[in-house]
Order: sequence, then structure tokens, then C-alpha cells
Amino acid sequence: SKEDVQAFLKKNAFVLFTVGAVIVGIVLGFALRPYKMTFREVKYFSFPGELLMRMLQMLVLPLLISSLITGMAALDSKASGKMGMRAVIYYMTTTFIAVFIGILVVLVIHPGKGSKEEFGKQQTIEQVSPADAFLDLIRNMFPPNLVQACTQQFKTKYGKRVVHVTVTVNDTFFNSTNGTQEVMEITREERIPVPGQVNGVNALGLVVFSMCFGLIIGNMKEQGQLLRDFFDSLNEAIMRLVAIIMWYAPIGILFLIAGKIVEMDDLTQMGGQLGMYTITVIIGLSIHAFVILPTLYFAITRQNPFVFIAGLLQALVTALGTSSSSATLPVTFKCLEENNKIDKRITRFILPVGATINMDGTALYEALAAIFIAQVNNMEMNFGQIITISITATAASIGAAGIPQAGLVTMVIVLTSVGLPTDDITLIIAVDWFLDRLRTTTNVLGDSIGAGIVEFLSRHELRSKDVEMGNSVLEE
Ligand code: ASP
Repeated sequence: SKEDVQAFLKKNAFVLFTVGAVIVGIVLGFALRPYKMTFREVKYFSFPGELLMRMLQMLVLPLLISSLITGMAALDSKASGKMGMRAVIYYMTTTFIAVFIGILVVLVIHPGKGSKEEFGKQQTIEQVSPADAFLDLIRNMFPPNLVQACTQQFKTKYGKRVVHVTVTVNDTFFNSTNGTQEVMEITREERIPVPGQVNGVNALGLVVFSMCFGLIIGNMKEQGQLLRDFFDSLNEAIMRLVAIIMWYAPIGILFLIAGKIVEMDDLTQMGGQLGMYTITVIIGLSIHAFVILPTLYFAITRQNPFVFIAGLLQALVTALGTSSSSATLPVTFKCLEENNKIDKRITRFILPVGATINMDGTALYEALAAIFIAQVNNMEMNFGQIITISITATAASIGAAGIPQAGLVTMVIVLTSVGLPTDDITLIIAVDWFLDRLRTTTNVLGDSIGAGIVEFLSRHELRSKDVEMGNSVLEE
């Protein structure tokens, strides 16, 4: 009846707006492509999207800190230790499964055909020693200056990338005598996102600090009350800001997506190996997101995983639009707490950590891409090398910051570890902006399902804590 329809629309307004925004964004983007906008025009056009990115990023720092501190303070060390263990086991298991699927699909589909001709020009990327990369990861866990960790770019060993651009000069005027080509090399330095960083925020370092700090003030009895109340109330205030931004999100997402479609390169090269590669990545990520994670969720909680995923829709779409799991974090919080009714003590504790270190999509992608590059180079990877790729892809996904295309940067480590040419990362750059959006969505899904599973497994601890605190306990 009419009332039913109205009630449905009212209840699902957000979801409908969000899905509508994606559809309109895609249609608008393709409709405007023939006009061949200039770089400046594209920037103007996607301005509403840029604003959304900035608003979300604005909230990440206070949200990350306040939620982790209150989350840790709300639990005693035994309970948080147990939950932390569960989260870590979940992160490791799902990341390894993701890597396994990535390797499996790329071996079965075999998108690389042993030739590089069709990819066009290549750039040189400097090698990174896996040992240095690993040490940097640990270094970032302990920021020497907390204020700096919130505001400044961290200088690390491989914070800069030297790019040699090889330009082929084929000028018949100069070379008319012998008809040869002249090759000129230009070297320029580029700043690259360093693992553990989000827009100048050393997220990993802040996560470590906030967890320790929260744990301590949680154990401080009356003396810690002031700090507990302060961070609690800060957290609450930030979440209210998130609620406002959520109303703007569909508009921002529409323009982020449309703007990207307007400016993307022509898809003409997509016919060959790169096209097959894209399809392989899509298949791998889909298996992980639509089969593995839901099955795992169902196996443990015995609840319908797709109802759970439906509650996350806005977060998933935000991930698709922003290609950053950090920027999506505020929305992930809102979806999990409000739609899926996940206990705040779990979300506060699990989500900031998950968004920083748990990246299933990135891990799957890095392993798959490394083997694809081997295939393009006609190199067979032996079993030992595949194991090495699995391990380094896992490490690289932990090290990758939750910002656009961070995974592409940490892939240098994976390639170096098995002796593949790091320059070949440039082979897949053309499609990375798109695949990055898909893997970010998978990352956010992995974090969210993790929160659902850890909550289910921790229900007894949460309950006994409620009893101890005299909170009203919901009947199970
Ligand atoms: N963009 C991804 C994220 O934010 C990281 C990556 O590049 O894989 O989760």
C-alpha cells in the first residue's frame, strides 16, 4: 500500500540517496566525457567531491585518537587482551585467505602473456630493500614527537622516489643522416605516500600510542576519570559531526565518481593483457568479498551476512568514491553502530586498528599483481617464491596507509623480494585508480565483518563487564 511505500522510502532514504549518487555519478561522468574537459575544468567540476574528501579527512585524526582511547579505557586489560587476540587472529586469517585467492585466480586465469610491447612507455622506480621497509614500519609505530605525528610528513628512508622518465626523441631533422633515435633521460624526485602515513598523519604511531594511553587511563580508577570523561565526550562530539557530514556524502560521492570518469584515460588499451588483468583482480576481490567473508561471518555468528553487508552500504560506497579506508572510517563507524548495532566498545577498539593495518583487498591485489608482472616477464615463480610473495604481500598490506593508491607504493617490497623488476609497476598504473577503489571497498568490508565477528565472540566479556558496571544488560 501507499503507506508501506512511504515508510520504506523514509527508512531507506540514505541508502537510496547513496546508491542513486553512484548511478548518477557514473551516468553523468560518461555523458560529459565527449566534451573533453581541461584539467582545470575537471578540478572545478569535481570540487564538491574534493570537499567531501577534506571533511572526512578532517575527522579522521580526532576520531581515531578519541575512539581508540575510550575504547581501550572501557575494557579491563584482560578483556581487551582477549578481544585484541581475536581481532589479530581474524586479521591474519582473512589476509592470508585473501592472498591465497589472489594467487589462485592469477595462476588459473593467467592474464600475463609474456610480452610487454602493448604496455607502452615505462619508467624506472628505485629499489627498496625489504629490510629497510620493515624497519620503517616499526619506526613509525613509535613517533618521537606526537604533535609532529599528527601534522607533518614523516621523513623515512624511502619517502622519496626517484623517477627516471625515458623520453625517446625521434626527430627526423636531427637524425636524418642515420635515422637513429636519441634517448634522453630525465630524473625527477617525487614525494610518495609512505607506509604508515595518512595525509601527514602517522596513523600507525597514533594507534599504538592511543591504545597504550587508553589502557592506562582505563586502569587508573578515580584519578583517570577526568581523562576518560574527556575522551568519551570528544568521541561523542566527533560522531555528531560525522552525522552531519553523512548528509552531504551522497553529493560528494556523485562528483568524486563523475569527475574521475570524466578524466580517466581512454579504455582502448583495455583489450589485451591489462584488460584480462583487470578482470582477474575483479574476480579475486569478488570471491573474497562476496563468498569468503560472508561465509566466515555466517559460520561464526549464524546470522545472515547479507543483511549485515546491506547495513554497511554507505561505508562501502564511500570507500568506492574516496579510495581511502581512512577517509571512510567515520562512515564505517556510523554504519556499524547505527545500522548494525555493533557495541561501541568493539567498534572504537577494532575499527581504527583495522583501517590502519587490516587490508584484505590490498593484500590480495599485491600478490596477484606481483605474479601478473612475473607472467608478463615470462618468469615462472617457483613454490618458494610464491610463499615469499604471500608473506611480503601481507606485510605490504599492513604497511600500506589507508590512502589512495598506497598499495601500489608498498608493492615495490613484494617485487624486490622475489627479484621482479620494480619498474614494471608502471605497467599497471593505468588501471590502478580503478582497482584501488575496489580493493579499498574490500578493505572496509573486511574491517567491518571483523567487528561483527569479534563482537559475537566477545559477547560474554562484554556482558560481564556490563554486569560489573551495573549497566542494563540486554537479554540474549
Ligand atoms: N587505497 C587503499 C585503502 O585506503 C590502500 C591501497 O592502496 O591498497 O585502503
